[in-house]
Amino acid sequence: MLKVGLTGGIGSGKSEVSARLAGRGALLIDADRIAREVVEPGTPGLAAVVAEFGEDVLLPSGALDREKVGRIVFGDRDRLAALNAIVHPLVGERMQELMDAAPADAVVVYDVPLLAENGLAGMYDEVVVVDAPEEAQLDRLVARRGMTEEDARARMANQASREERRAVATHIIDNSGTLDDLKAQVDSLWDSLTHRAAS
Ligand code: ADP
Repeated sequence: MLKVGLTGGIGSGKSEVSARLAGRGALLIDADRIAREVVEPGTPGLAAVVAEFGEDVLLPSGALDREKVGRIVFGDRDRLAALNAIVHPLVGERMQELMDAAPADAVVVYDVPLLAENGLAGMYDEVVVVDAPEEAQLDRLVARRGMTEEDARARMANQASREERRAVATHIIDNSGTLDDLKAQVDSLWDSLTHRAAS
């Protein structure tokens, strides 16, 4: 199994890359998504959150009111630690299940937006960084995602710089061109990853 960490700044094109890698056959592990799945209605995870935080954190539909939980734990270390103590082990278990089910030569791609920020490069065999000029990131966020320029700039300023991200990369995908250019790079990356996973 080859463990690949995938990262990139907001609007860099990381989701496009992960979708294409999954399309080629990578096993995609998205920790944010798993963190939502383990507290879906009917799960032991949600029951544990309700036992800790009370029925008030449920929406009328029975789903977790994520904004409300976010407000409770924001700036409160103890409450945040209590939430993480429930969610993190469940996420870890689910990730392990997915990996156990994968064949020995699988390419497992972890979608980790804050890989550089959190110093996680050492956890992976390969680190793929999707790199784009800041102006391209901004344009995509404003034109395609409907963000205001101010919001997009603020989010970008909160993340690692391009240089910091590139410094931890084993592969850099240059997304300064068209979507077709991007796809061609992902395809050649896929060939090299499958080659490594098989050897
Ligand atoms: P991220 O996941 O890194 O935040 P996305 O992959 O969602 O970024 O890309 C942001 C937006 O820009 C999406 O709508 C995506 O389709 C578009 N996009 C990404 N790369 C390109 C490109 N090379 N040319 C045009 N649009 C692009």
